[in-house]
Amino acid sequence: MEVKPYVPKGQGSWVKGQEKNKEETEGKIIFEKGRFIWPVKGEVTSGFGIRNGQKHDGIDISALSGTDVVAADDGEVIYNGDGMRGYGNIIIIQHKEKFVTIYGHNKENLANVGKNVKKGELIAKVGNSGNSTGYHLHFEIRKDTKPRNPLFFLP
Ligand SMILES: [Zn+2]
Repeated sequence: MEVKPYVPKGQGSWVKGQEKNKEETEGKIIFEKGRFIWPVKGEVTSGFGIRNGQKHDGIDISALSGTDVVAADDGEVIYNGDGMRGYGNIIIIQHKEKFVTIYGHNKENLANVGKNVKKGELIAKVGNSGNSTGYHLHFEIRKDTKPRNPLFFLP
């Protein structure tokens, strides 16, 4: 399948929203085990939080090159490209209740912007693109634009 590059309108607007919302949402921990499914099966090699003095807004799941990456829940693909520094090829999916999931370092993106995907549907292949030191998926869950610990939402 051919995947067209996509340049988001109002570039980075969801990042700006994150700052605006920070104070409102800070301190509130949301915990909803099983809300999402694992986008790839593998070992979590890096967790959420501060890592070597730097913030890590997701988790890293190690997997072989070309392993299927699937949508963690039903939603609409809102980004397909490589426009976020260090993330390599990424897919971003919007879900209900203002959840967003992000899938980074892909070898190949397989879902175009605007596509409605089902939970478990193939969206990408695990790769090593961007600022990455091995084949893995960088996976983020955001709610109301704020990064959340994915382990609180996975089974
Ligand atoms: Zn990562």
